[in-house]
Amino acid sequence: MADTIGGCEGCDTPIFEDTPHFTYGDDVTVCAECAPTLSSILADYRQALSLRNPDYESFGCSSLEEFKHKAEACERDLKENGDRKLLTSYGEAKS
Ligand SMILES: [Zn+2]
Repeated sequence: MADTIGGCEGCDTPIFEDTPHFTYGDDVTVCAECAPTLSSILADYRQALSLRNPDYESFGCSSLEEFKHKAEACERDLKENGDRKLLTSYGEAKS
């Protein structure tokens, strides 16, 4: 049996190592049900970038430059691949 890596912030579902999930930059983990879509992530980026001092650290970035790059990559991804949920599981990440 796999170890839990925590629970979903949205609905308290336990999340195991091989459960598809989404992790926000600030280490908040949610289950596939509660995961945001790419377009809603991009909306968050855009909203943060419209502020005078974007809180890029809460998106897991160490600089504003990195944050802008991430937002641009996200926008390109949405254009090229369409809207979807970006789920990961640690099982996949290791292989
Ligand atoms: Zn959930």
